[in-house]
Amino acid sequence: MGQTIKHKCNSCDFEFIEEDKEFYFNEELTKLTEETPLFNTFQKIAKSQLSGNIYLTYCDNCNNFIKTYSVTKNETSLDDEEIKELIIESGASEQITNEPVEKLVLIRNDDRLIKCPKCENEILKTLTHGSGCPKCENGKLLANMFTIND
Ligand SMILES: [Zn+2]
Ligand SMILES: [Zn+2]
Repeated sequence: MGQTIKHKCNSCDFEFIEEDKEFYFNEELTKLTEETPLFNTFQKIAKSQLSGNIYLTYCDNCNNFIKTYSVTKNETSLDDEEIKELIIESGASEQITNEPVEKLVLIRNDDRLIKCPKCENEILKTLTHGSGCPKCENGKLLANMFTIND
């Protein structure tokens, strides 16, 4: 089962779906897959040598969306820097409200706070209920949680 949060602004039409997503590499480390963890995903993640969680947030200092790849399992011979490079190159490039999304890679780091890769501002790794709206000045994002079944 995957958890999904819909963030909706209480003042403008901005809304954005945050999916609970995990990533894993194939055996050759040539392909990164990003998936909502449904039942058959867990087997693939268990087999993979390199996997972790994905978080999405927004930096209101430099107005960029930040996608964080948090590596939780590394059984490869790659070091941290090589893993960061591999993930940045392989990860899906996304756009939210036509803005590109900055990527950040964390290795075995469970902190709730991250440093924005653009401006080094400290921000929460995930959007929270009541975060400022990225699109308008006054709005606040209200979070609604729902669950996707297999
Ligand atoms: Zn808004
Ligand atoms: Zn920033």
